[in-house]
Amino acid sequence: MIETAFKRLEEIHSEMIDIRRDLHMHPELSFQEVRTPQVIAEYLRNLGLEVKTGVGERGVVGTLKGGKPGKTVALRADFDALPIEEENDVPYKSQVPGVMHACGHDAHTAIVLGIAKVLSEMKDEIEGNVVFIHQHAEEGLGGARYMVEDNCLDGVDAIFATHMENYANVGEVHYTHGYILGAADHFVIDIQGKGGHAAFPHDTKDALHIGSQLVCNLQQIISRRVDPLKSAVVTIGSFHAGETDNVIPDTAQIRGTVRVFDEEVRQDIKKMIDEISASTVQMARADYHLDYEDGYPSTWNHKKETDILIEAGKKAVGEENVVKYEPNMGAEDFSYYVREIPGTYFFTGSANKEKGFIYPYHHPKFDIDEDSLLVGSKTLAAAALDYLKSE
Ligand code: MN
Repeated sequence: MIETAFKRLEEIHSEMIDIRRDLHMHPELSFQEVRTPQVIAEYLRNLGLEVKTGVGERGVVGTLKGGKPGKTVALRADFDALPIEEENDVPYKSQVPGVMHACGHDAHTAIVLGIAKVLSEMKDEIEGNVVFIHQHAEEGLGGARYMVEDNCLDGVDAIFATHMENYANVGEVHYTHGYILGAADHFVIDIQGKGGHAAFPHDTKDALHIGSQLVCNLQQIISRRVDPLKSAVVTIGSFHAGETDNVIPDTAQIRGTVRVFDEEVRQDIKKMIDEISASTVQMARADYHLDYEDGYPSTWNHKKETDILIEAGKKAVGEENVVKYEPNMGAEDFSYYVREIPGTYFFTGSANKEKGFIYPYHHPKFDIDEDSLLVGSKTLAAAALDYLKSE
């Protein structure tokens, strides 16, 4: 059955390329997707699938009911683009000024639609169901969370997804057991001091000085307070205070991000930021306000599904091209699905030095070797079929 799927995916490779290029020319930003979900829904309906639109506001879910009873597996593709002006000179260049598919979500969509086509041709033989989850707004706004709240995982036993990866060569599949990507939270600390004349510091509460100390003190979190065997990052990316040399500013603002794998450590760090802010401003009798915003949780790849993925990858590209991926502190809203049900997220190599596909995601010259559409679709299709056959 997997062999048949591989053969058909090879035959429709050019169709997947056409879909990807069409989406690439018409990119849409998060929560502004109108055309993309229409294109997806129409494609899935033409395959004879049961299709729900407006899931979590803009998502599309297609369900393929196999001819035999069994489990239900979901394949997820995101479909939003980024506010980047494309710098590639290609026939399929973005036609929308300032908006670009610079993270490969056009490719993810083409891959999952290609699989939907091939598996729907084979549906009589399929034991169980396959749900195609097409998700809007991955780039920061957490479309996945809204889709999960809108019950897109109802009746689904496991979920798989892939992402294009230009840090890996086309032809390779990269997997990880356990944590693969971090949680990404954001915080803003507003310090309220008391301004005044630069020559009269004793009449002020110098917000700039307090802020400087706070930037340094927050670095104690990772260096002195988090278990060195647990991974986490606290980065202050912005610090604003003062306008000129002879005025002591009354306010300062610090903005930062927390990246972490472990949920308990994440909650601890959140508390530490508040404690350290409170004690630092207290030394200067000033005040502060902390605004801490939970971003995406960390992404955890479950054991059984990852083992199935590895075997699927071997069938698609051979054992030598199935590579262990080093987890990193990037973030993905696929995490919301694997908090609810088991699943795994893997990377499909899309770089090709000879052809110039070398720029990383979110770069204005990001582009992929489209052979990756075949690799990604074969691996995901095999993972779905193998999962349905698993115990
Ligand atoms: Mn992405």
